[in-house]
Formats: sequence, C-alpha cells, structure tokens
Amino acid sequence: MSPTQRRAGIIGYPLRHSVSPAMHQAAFDALGVGARYEAWETPYDRLSERVASLRKPDVLGANVTVPHKEAVLALLDELDAEARQLGAVNTIVNVGGRLVGHNTDGGGFLRALREDGGFDPQDRRALLLGAGGAARAVAFALAEAGARSIAIANRTPGRARALADDLAAVEVETEVLPWEAEPIGALLWYCDLVVNCTSIGMAHGPFEGVSPLAAGLIPKAVLVYDLVYNPPLTPLLEEARRAGARTLGGLPMLVYQGVASFRLWTGRQPPEDVMLAAARQALGVGA
Ligand code: NAP
Repeated sequence: MSPTQRRAGIIGYPLRHSVSPAMHQAAFDALGVGARYEAWETPYDRLSERVASLRKPDVLGANVTVPHKEAVLALLDELDAEARQLGAVNTIVNVGGRLVGHNTDGGGFLRALREDGGFDPQDRRALLLGAGGAARAVAFALAEAGARSIAIANRTPGRARALADDLAAVEVETEVLPWEAEPIGALLWYCDLVVNCTSIGMAHGPFEGVSPLAAGLIPKAVLVYDLVYNPPLTPLLEEARRAGARTLGGLPMLVYQGVASFRLWTGRQPPEDVMLAAARQALGVGA
C-alpha cells in the first residue's frame, strides 16, 4: 500500500454475497482516487473492535450491512438526522477520527422504485416483509414519499411493532401482521407493493434458495420488490413472475445507495454506469 492510499470497506456477516467491494473499487479506480475497498467480515463479538479501527487516518469510512445496521449506532460519535430517525446506519464516515453515521438505503430504495420500477408510492399501500435495518429505511422512505399505509410482517413480532411505533412520528397508517402465510396472503390483495426486506433468498446465507412468499399468495396487480440482489433473480422474484406480477430486484438500489455513500466519503460524484457494470460483472450477469 502506498503511503497516501486510503481505505474503505464493508462491515457485515456473512459477506460472501456482497458485490460492494467490486462496485466501489471500480468507482475509486475510474476517478483515480487512491483508495482500496475491502470486505471486512465481522461477527457480532468483533463489531466494536472493527468499528474502532475506522478511526485510523487512512480510513475514509465504511458501509454496514446484515446484521449490524442497528447494533453499530451505539459505537459511533455522531448520527445525521436520517440515521437518528431510522435507528439504522449503512454508511460511516471517518471525519478526522470522529465516526459519523448516515443512511443512504432509503434514498437508494426510492430512486430505484421510481426510476427502475416506474412506481410512485404516493397514496399507495405497501407490505414490508422484515423489520431489520433495511426495512426501517424502506418504511420511512415510503412514509415520507406519501404512502397511504404500511403493513409490516416480521419473524420476530416485537421488532415489527417497534418499527410501527417509530413510524407514528411520520403519520402513516401502520399495521403489524403475524409472520404467517394466511394473513400475509389476505392482506396482499389490498396492497400495491410488497417489499422483501429480509435476507431470505440471499446467496451464501442460511436461507439461500428460499422464497418468503409462494406464487399462489401473490396477486398480479402487486409490484414485488426484493431488496436481495444476489442472486439477481431471487426465489421471490421467480415466484412473482410465476404469478404474473411485476418485479424489481435489489441491484439498482445497491448502486444508488452506493453512489450516495461514495459521495459522503469523497465529496465526488462516482460514475454510476461503471458501478453498475462492476456489480453486474461480480454477480456473473455480465456488463
Ligand atoms: P438485518 O437488519 O439483519 O434484518 C434481517 C431481517 O431478515 C430481519 O427482519 C429478520 O427477522 C429477517 N430474517 C432473516 N432470516 C429470516 C428467516 N429465516 N425467516 C424470516 N425472517 C428472517 O438485515 P438488513 O440490513 O435489514 O438486510 C436485509 C436484506 O436486505 C439483506 O438481504 C440485504 O442484503 C438486503 N439489502 C439490500 C440492499 C440493496 O441495496 N439492494 C440494501 C440494504 C439491504 P428477525 O427480526 O426475526 O431476525
């Protein structure tokens, strides 16, 4: 490493699914930023040590992914308004040894929904599967974009209730559903959008190859949006296609949230086409 080379990286566990290293490295290289983007696989018991290491002067910052987006908050010096409201951080910036938490997931999610999904959430009804860090960002983004109602179903019901309680601050109708096929299927008939914010179906995770919903539960009129981007065609998207519903995968969101993180670390606009091509190549779907 040259004396001036900087570092950034992604903190998560597991990380084998992540194409962020390929995507950000391509942007650093394209702009001639002397920086290396690393994969920092970090189990829970190493999280505080890993976060402390970000204070070193050569570190620009980090992305944070599954399962640390909420746990990392307590280890930072400062949060921007969005991260504080969401209670989740996906981007850390090292500002002279002080660690500042941000969240670019909500903006990336909405931009993809509008530009790639052709869907305006204003006055629409959404169902979220999951209540972790990504679900929090998605829920607040939808509420602020004027969604009429947000239903949340999560394996751990207390987490779904906590998210619904926090959403009271942004005045949107909320409902908490049990994590069971029957109530989820029944509610879907009244929804315009369903978003998988769980890690079910994610490559290299414990539920690889599994869909959170079967085709029989999915009405044709619903847009099915899977935040999971690896594999690009997830088991849920396959089920949705079988049901005849429109689909949107997680890859555009990955690029848009990554663009915003990159701007926070460097103050520069990265080339989005280069990032998308690198992500697609890392996923094996070609440029
Ligand atoms: P997280 O905070 O760890 O939350 C994981 C969520 O998945 C929780 O709601 C968890 O339920 C649920 N879950 C996990 N395994 C489950 C299972 N077997 N059955 C039912 N529910 C299960 O993770 P996250 O950061 O929110 O990320 C979630 C997913 O979104 C990941 O796959 C991540 O890669 C993806 N994501 C994609 C983008 C993008 O740019 N495309 C951005 C952010 C996230 P419990 O509460 O019961 O544990």
